[in-house]
Amino acid sequence: MTSILNADLHCHSVVSDGTLTPEALAARAKTYGVELWALTDHDEIGGQQRAAAAAKAIGLHYLTGVEISVTFIHQTVHIVGLGFDANNTALQQGLINTRGGRGQRAREMSDGLAKVGIHGAYEGALKFAGNLELISRTHFARFLVESGVCRETNEVFRKYLTEGKPGYVEHRWASLKDAVTWIREAGGVAVIAHPARYKFSTNEEFALFTEFKSHGGQGVEVVTGSHSAPEYLVYADMAREFGLAASRGSDFHSPDESHTELGTLPYLSGTLTPVWELLTDRIQLAPVVSAEAAACNAP
Ligand code: AMP
Ligand code: MN
Ligand code: MN
Ligand code: MN
Repeated sequence: MTSILNADLHCHSVVSDGTLTPEALAARAKTYGVELWALTDHDEIGGQQRAAAAAKAIGLHYLTGVEISVTFIHQTVHIVGLGFDANNTALQQGLINTRGGRGQRAREMSDGLAKVGIHGAYEGALKFAGNLELISRTHFARFLVESGVCRETNEVFRKYLTEGKPGYVEHRWASLKDAVTWIREAGGVAVIAHPARYKFSTNEEFALFTEFKSHGGQGVEVVTGSHSAPEYLVYADMAREFGLAASRGSDFHSPDESHTELGTLPYLSGTLTPVWELLTDRIQLAPVVSAEAAACNAP
């Protein structure tokens, strides 16, 4: 399969911290010309059936997806899983365990914010959460914007929700080995999400890539909404150096907050192995729509 494919293999719905339903995301992906799509909610695959059904109904090829929170050398790293069997019980249980600490963490975040005079943040954030098992920093950020504490979510993260700030709570997520193993054993491909976002030293980053590979990880995001154009080149080189396939995804969360729209990033370089080449037998193919039928359905 070619690199010249409008694949968008990273985005979020109301099932985690996005603001659109899986159905609305599928429709939006189609509108923006996406040809192969995956919904990758944080630590949760409860939206997979809806996403796959919605994709099929509108003629969009689909891969199952998830973005698992991992703790590696005291930092949170995200591992995207693609093309797994969403009915795999070990993966489902692993994700239940990974989500498990979020409720307590949210209460502690709220306590931290109360100490600087921001009250009711837990209840406020909960109002924005579409999934009570998946309360995230993003929901707190939306509450702080709604209540006028900050003008936009980025500002909330900078002032309140990152390390050393009042609403930040240290948290231990899944291990790298567990996350990669769950994905692999469910028949999927594990991908390091947005590597440029982590604040690792060169040696630590080398350790991340080396250990990821040793556990059976096979891909890395190269073209993502979280990378700058120079970073596409840096991580294209890393993909080649480590023999990893390359992925492409917007990390779209919301029409109001996301800077990168679904399906609008540059294509992957033709010198990389696209991750979908490893997943050809796991793509849920949408029925072929004839040109005539497509014309009938056109608005
Ligand atoms: P959590 O899993 O609860 O730690 O929340 C992580 C989520 O917060 C990420 O997936 C992003 O959606 C969001 N996030 C992290 N940093 C920022 C930032 N600087 N600006 C906006 N959103 C952010
Ligand atoms: Mn998110
Ligand atoms: Mn992420
Ligand atoms: Mn994401």
